[in-house]
Amino acid sequence: MTTLTTSAGIVDAVPTNLWLGGVQTPAENGATFPVRNPATGEVLTHVADATPADGLRALDLAVGVQREWAATPPRDRAEILRAAFELVRRRAEDFATVMTLEMGKAIGEARGEVAYGAEYLRWFSEEAVRVGGRFGSAPGGNGRILVTKVPVGPVLAITPWNFPLAMGTRKIAPALAAGCTIIVKPAEETPLTMLLLGEVFAEAGLPEGVLSILPTSQASALSGPLMGDPRLRKVTFTGSTPVGKLLVRNSADQLLRTSMELGGNAPFVVFDDADVDAAVDGAMAAKMRNGGQACTAANRFYVSNAVVEEFTDKLTARIAALRTGPGVDPNTDIGPLVNADQRDMVAGLVRDAVDRGARVRTGGFAPEGAGHFYSPTVLDRIPDDARVLREEIFGPIAVVVGFDTEEEGIAAANATEYGLASYFYTRDLDRAMRIAAALDTGMVAVNRGILSDAAAPFGGVKHSGFGREGGTEGIEEYLETKYIAL
Ligand code: NAD
Repeated sequence: MTTLTTSAGIVDAVPTNLWLGGVQTPAENGATFPVRNPATGEVLTHVADATPADGLRALDLAVGVQREWAATPPRDRAEILRAAFELVRRRAEDFATVMTLEMGKAIGEARGEVAYGAEYLRWFSEEAVRVGGRFGSAPGGNGRILVTKVPVGPVLAITPWNFPLAMGTRKIAPALAAGCTIIVKPAEETPLTMLLLGEVFAEAGLPEGVLSILPTSQASALSGPLMGDPRLRKVTFTGSTPVGKLLVRNSADQLLRTSMELGGNAPFVVFDDADVDAAVDGAMAAKMRNGGQACTAANRFYVSNAVVEEFTDKLTARIAALRTGPGVDPNTDIGPLVNADQRDMVAGLVRDAVDRGARVRTGGFAPEGAGHFYSPTVLDRIPDDARVLREEIFGPIAVVVGFDTEEEGIAAANATEYGLASYFYTRDLDRAMRIAAALDTGMVAVNRGILSDAAAPFGGVKHSGFGREGGTEGIEEYLETKYIAL
């Protein structure tokens, strides 16, 4: 346990050991690794560093209770998820503070993530009791067809640092609702939020063995033996596309079920008939939420040349007014990037665009001093070959490109190997339906800057991966179909 003291208050007793089958346990070799505050670079605390042996121990425990957990009445599983939801809400301030300290996001955004992340616990507590099946007569009249759903089995979940709570609850809640046991490997940068969630599940009465939470500094050393073990049946991953591809390859030997929530390169298209002020509001949310460190973040703004000057002027004024600072400061709009590598990656993308001739409308520099900050930036006059149009930015950088015809706007939006989210603004309903159909993404936001919702299926196509989280679809990822011939 550790106590985190901040200008925003004190968070007492944050667990720092592994949750091995729901029990606080040091790493088998006693090793720990540091967790840092990206706003200062200082070490916040050290957490247990799970070894491959710890991973296999967690799998032993998961396998040991898998049948019993699958046979637990759905109502009982639902009640545990509901209790966890209530506990997260009760400890919302602790969760928000821990998240801000280890990840950097502004405290207001952290509060928003707590509400959003908790919602998956509530949603899947409601879905747990609604797993259906099918019954029919064989067409030949010689039998009955009974289709049932059964849990996939033990699951490994690997999560990123950008939404330390929600990316976990999006996997844990449907897995538990479906009757699966689950081992979670949170991102090395942000293990504390997930360890706090482990405490919530222990208090909510989750039976031992069902859930393990294993921070580690050796991600592939932990996941490799687990994925090679025939007792594990599924891997669910949220993170970058290269790591997702590697995990899909590694899942082949055991033919694991896989869900892959990978990178994005979302277009945000403003047509000539759009409400420009509404589009600027939406752009601020789609771009600057989480300091741009979201897979759904608008990466490329394509704006009709009829309104591009007005849009860019207004967006620049709004972005220039954002206050950068430590996330715990209530006046902060944009916190630091999560680490020096991310900050340098963002700076490199801006430098590449500017070297090729892009214009800096505001920002474009990393401030001096402690912490991994980058100034909120708007670039326009972007040359076609700039990396910033092809690569996921993952920082507070808006790039604006003009276009003439609707066809050009759609073609530019779709010119990426990614396919997670897209956004567009128009006041014409026919056009809205046409464009929504034409955009090659798993999710489309029409006249809105935010689309995530626990009740909606979140996920991508193309190199953004496959599988859906949330909605009625989310639980299917953790269920197998079983046909019984009667
Ligand atoms: P990342 O791929 O580097 O890491 C994600 C997780 O995978 C971490 O827990 C990390 O420790 C682990 N990992 C890394 N290498 C591994 C390996 N070889 N074997 C096993 N595990 C490994 O991604 P990140 O930088 O933490 O997160 C940012 C990325 O996540 C962005 O590309 C973003 O778009 C994506 N993301 C996608 C979604 C979505 O739903 N599609 C949501 C959030 C973030």
